[in-house]
Amino acid sequence: MKQSEYLKILNLVKISLKEYSDWGENEIYKYLVADTKASKSILQATKQKTFSTEILYSKEELGKLREEINSCKKCPLGESRLNAVFGVGSPSADLIFVGEGPGYDEDHKGEPFIGKAGHLLTKIIEAMGQTRETVYIANIVKCHPMIDPSNSEKRANDRPPTPEEMSVCRNYLDMQLEIIKPKIIVTLGASSTKGLLNNKEPISQIRGLVKEYKGIKLMPTYHPAALLRNPNLKKFVWEDMKKVMHFLDTREI
Ligand code: SF4
Repeated sequence: MKQSEYLKILNLVKISLKEYSDWGENEIYKYLVADTKASKSILQATKQKTFSTEILYSKEELGKLREEINSCKKCPLGESRLNAVFGVGSPSADLIFVGEGPGYDEDHKGEPFIGKAGHLLTKIIEAMGQTRETVYIANIVKCHPMIDPSNSEKRANDRPPTPEEMSVCRNYLDMQLEIIKPKIIVTLGASSTKGLLNNKEPISQIRGLVKEYKGIKLMPTYHPAALLRNPNLKKFVWEDMKKVMHFLDTREI
């Protein structure tokens, strides 16, 4: 074997050990003694195996976090909720949508965005060529903020989360972001945008502008509930989503 080939393999192995540390050194050592072609193909297989290992790891970590949230009472919303609403979607999604908090339907079913606004969000996701299973959907607070917390069965009992509630619960969203490692966040509406960016501008001014949260690109846009009230806003959301799609395709925005 030529020295250059040997060095090339050694370099690949170094990268492999760094990136794919769940493989033991002995496994990697075997590649050193194999010929270049075989090493590359085994390394490819290593990557594929590790890719699925990473997804399994994320699933497990998300599962543990879900359990923690299910019993959380760190803020008063934990006392009145029926179900904590953790999040749904791919544990390795590139795109995550973040809303403000669960409403009546979500509180009853324990899943985010399943009411009328959720149905519209699903349509937007599908128009982007994705599904609820390929993206991730979560909220900045995991429990239903109610106007009258004594009656979880009352309809139209929703209110936006307070800054205090968002600041206590945001830690859980941060952990979700750390596990999932999305490439871009779409905040839906004024509350989740303010909760992450602490901005002063109204959503009508900040939407469509590319921001960052913890090193992750962030696109603020209108909440689907606002589109149900005012369908004229749909064209703005679609403009924003086109920028997101372009970023997902090219990593440029
Ligand atoms: S809203 Fe968040 S911090 Fe408050 S009780 Fe629910 S999970 Fe805990």
